[in-house]
Amino acid sequence: GVDPPPRRSARTSGPRPYAEAMAVDRVLLCAPRGFCAGVEMAIKALAWMVRAFEPPVYCYHEIVHNQKVVSRFEDMGVVFVDDVTEVPPGAPLMLSAHGSAPEVVQAARDNGGYVVDAVCPLVTKVHHEVKVRAGKGYQIVYVGHEGHEEAVGTMAVAPDAIHLVETEEQVAALPDFDQPVALLAQTTLSHRDWDGVKEATRSRFPETWMPGRSDLCFATTNRQSALGQIADRCDTTIVIGSANSSNTRALEKLARDAGCPRVLRVNGVDEVPDDLTGTVGVTAGASAPEELVEAIIAHLAPVEGVEEVRYTDEDEYFPPPRSLRDLIDAVDLVATLTLGGPVADRPGLNDRQTKASDVLAALPTSR
Ligand code: SF4
Repeated sequence: GVDPPPRRSARTSGPRPYAEAMAVDRVLLCAPRGFCAGVEMAIKALAWMVRAFEPPVYCYHEIVHNQKVVSRFEDMGVVFVDDVTEVPPGAPLMLSAHGSAPEVVQAARDNGGYVVDAVCPLVTKVHHEVKVRAGKGYQIVYVGHEGHEEAVGTMAVAPDAIHLVETEEQVAALPDFDQPVALLAQTTLSHRDWDGVKEATRSRFPETWMPGRSDLCFATTNRQSALGQIADRCDTTIVIGSANSSNTRALEKLARDAGCPRVLRVNGVDEVPDDLTGTVGVTAGASAPEELVEAIIAHLAPVEGVEEVRYTDEDEYFPPPRSLRDLIDAVDLVATLTLGGPVADRPGLNDRQTKASDVLAALPTSR
């Protein structure tokens, strides 16, 4: 739970001085919110790369879609690139959580440096479905956002068999396929977008194959369900996250669709307006750090405190990418030796218990 901030006095009398302009009664704080298991894994993996190699470490695409996280790593000497050809031969390289096209993965390996692919396993699952269905001769209707890195990477698995759609109208405009049809999706869609396009596809192609569980990931689903519980009780909903974060945009859309009169997507506390009143809902997309949530709640200073509204407990955990595990062992051993600790009974890594937000906070601000 979150402790309520101290009650403010002078709430009812006279005009407020500037510093007292905010008149928020209550914050309803969604849980789960913020970092998902895939983002946790990717951030911790890049932090290991930074510890293991002299800068610069390269990262293909933003490790996750959050400016705060990206700039923390830039301060540590990580260089983010949108093309693997920008990486000097032999330099250490991480591939982002969104998943990369097969030819990008190959180009990264051919570059000759240490490569860690931090793709979320749930994105890998979709890549696998695309590969298998295309191999069986299906035409794939893929629901995703044009130009989003996850969609670009997934479509590149079978570019000749895949058709990107975002709307029901685009489903109606698809050709009549002679082949069987499969329906797959970007992991971070809004439920309403997904449901509409799913129904349109199934009515247009009644034999459509779908995976047993939809491709929308647990984190997307849980964050949306948590927000769905409170959005219609809020005068304003604040969704913390970047404009290029698909699951963040899905949260924003959900709050609007649920009838919340004012929905604000903000990168950080400096974008929160000072005129908020009444009940304010707060949530954060899967790539937004908890420190942003804390700063915003402190700024809102709700007189009646914070109520955390929990939809479910999320205990998913993704271990570090396989290619990183040996490196982690080596770095851990070197660190122990450097510190003069006993090698035989060094505590070892408890990666599951290590929080990416703590890892981020512990990174020095510059190198
Ligand atoms: Fe993986 Fe879902 Fe997180 Fe994306 S939002 S990184 S698919 S768990």
